[in-house]
Amino acid sequence: MNLIPLPAFQDNYLWLLHDGQRALVVDPGDAGPVQAYLDANALQLEAILVTHHHADHTGGVDALRDASGARVYGPAHERIPEPVTRLAEGDAIEVLGLRFEVLDVPGHTAGHIAYFSPDIDGAPLVFCGDTLFSGGCGRLFEGTPRQMFDSLSKLAALPGATRVCCTHEYTLGNLKFATAVEPDNAQLIHYRQQCEQRRSRGEPTLPSTIALENEVNPFLRTRQPAVAQAAHRFDAADEADPVAVFAALRQWKNEFR
Ligand SMILES: [Zn+2]
Ligand SMILES: [Zn+2]
Repeated sequence: MNLIPLPAFQDNYLWLLHDGQRALVVDPGDAGPVQAYLDANALQLEAILVTHHHADHTGGVDALRDASGARVYGPAHERIPEPVTRLAEGDAIEVLGLRFEVLDVPGHTAGHIAYFSPDIDGAPLVFCGDTLFSGGCGRLFEGTPRQMFDSLSKLAALPGATRVCCTHEYTLGNLKFATAVEPDNAQLIHYRQQCEQRRSRGEPTLPSTIALENEVNPFLRTRQPAVAQAAHRFDAADEADPVAVFAALRQWKNEFR
């Protein structure tokens, strides 16, 4: 399987997975780069997987469906261009011979879902949209801190080797914030240097892994004393309450430059 992050807009990746003949695409906000890649590689688009309703994730769905006849999958409780096969936690689909399990991960939007595959060429993979980013997480447009905390905890509990395919190249900005939260985290400092080198070569920082995110991402580290203390310094958050620590971090990041 080939896993391709197609750049789109300012900082989106349209993830494409193909076996040389058949392809699936995740959150195609723009049909153009996807169609160009399909044409250049003579691929048949079989499925479109949508994580949530935002236009930068759905804008190309109709054009790609019309051009290919691909089946569209999306969250049960959000407005996605019809016809769409609606999915919620507990559902599983098979696409390109691969199994994807659906996780409900509300917070960024109310009905956001993620697609977890336990084994693609020997390692798991998750398409998590705008919920978990490398070094950060999505903004809370429609959900509560408690919901997002639970959603991130669910993703953090996936196998460590799980490749994390998120939709935006926000990594450097996230790691700048993460370093402000945890200036003494040696793994974070090392990872930030690696990512700066990748970006200076024009390469994506993604996919990340769950194991790595658990070491460097402050939003997954709310029970770490250093993270809880930093949140407490920001808004007197209760250091013993990981949801309050999470809420403080999210607010701090919103204001962080
Ligand atoms: Zn979004
Ligand atoms: Zn987005």
